[in-house]
Amino acid sequence: MNKLLSKLPLKRNQSSYLLITCKNYTNSNSIDVHTHMYTPKYMDILRKRTTIPRVVTIGGGDRLIILPGEDKEITTSVGRPIGSEYFDVNAKLKFMDKHGIEKSIISLANPWLDFLTRNEAESVAQELNDELQSICEKSNGRLYGFATLPVRNPKAAVKEVYRLSSLNKIKGVILGTPGAGQGLDHENCKEMLHAIEDKNYTIFLHPHYGVGNEHYHDSGHALFLALGFPFETTVCVSRLIVSGRLDQLPKLKLLVAHAGAALPALIGRLDSCVYHDIAIANKLKKTPTEYLQNMYFDCIAYHTPALKSLISLVGEDRIMFGTDNPFFPPPNEPNVLDAVWPSTVKVYTTMDPLLRDIKDKILFKNATKILSL
Ligand code: URA
Ligand code: ZN
Repeated sequence: MNKLLSKLPLKRNQSSYLLITCKNYTNSNSIDVHTHMYTPKYMDILRKRTTIPRVVTIGGGDRLIILPGEDKEITTSVGRPIGSEYFDVNAKLKFMDKHGIEKSIISLANPWLDFLTRNEAESVAQELNDELQSICEKSNGRLYGFATLPVRNPKAAVKEVYRLSSLNKIKGVILGTPGAGQGLDHENCKEMLHAIEDKNYTIFLHPHYGVGNEHYHDSGHALFLALGFPFETTVCVSRLIVSGRLDQLPKLKLLVAHAGAALPALIGRLDSCVYHDIAIANKLKKTPTEYLQNMYFDCIAYHTPALKSLISLVGEDRIMFGTDNPFFPPPNEPNVLDAVWPSTVKVYTTMDPLLRDIKDKILFKNATKILSL
């Protein structure tokens, strides 16, 4: 792969480099475990809403308004522009073809069902999961799904986990960090987590709300997504650890978004702080590092040293390829459907210095095994 790209953060207008780089992997058979869609039924819901989260059509184009605070803006710059790459399965397949991706595990994008009433969430979860199954069934074996749960309605969430058994393309569930409102470690999520473990599904843990948002003013989406997102995931996973919840769920498969967020960098500190807090330390069976070593991660670090550090922390058998498509589309590109996406190229080039055997595990071998594809 292009050496320059592996060293540099991607700059705009590097299209010739992108094309050269793209040629090196278009024949690969990657499995993308971090890839989203706002499925057609979910888009219908967002289009009908008048408050956040919603999709508004301004000047013939759709704008997605989902992030906390995004609706404050009332000019046309509100939210972000979206096209069919967000909701059309053919766009997903085209993206996969162009970027060397053989299979994808599609998850609904944030904020899932969090804004619905408990009753609405129950029936909408069923509809959306059936829709996801049907999308995957028609894909000639290329698409699988992480289902969505009505997490704010814990009883319905448990019921839905067991109903998913009838949907053979579903490999796990995507969960946000708040659970039923008080965090995934809260008692009211316990039964749902046990059901997920019982069914051997993988939890794909993903942020939406951000942590530390009061510090991100005047920075567009940049700091919210770069810092708020991973801090949110970090808090959630840390709470699952220190609450002792994971001791009750030894077989739970937890796939942590964005290469484990900030936790791999902070895990030594968490070990030390837990060790020095006797009440917490006595409650836990293992050190935080050991819990982390029992989790799974995507490889979306955009930084080779960070990825290498994750590999040395948890081993190369727990990390899987991901793109975060359709987020982070090529900036200033009018035709994103035909473009090579720098964000995805960067995920590939971050792996350039790794040994072939390790790369193959991350690109497809681990997902095949962990998700039984
Ligand atoms: N922005 C989002 O809203 N979600 C993602 O997953 C990535 C970027
Ligand atoms: Zn994502």
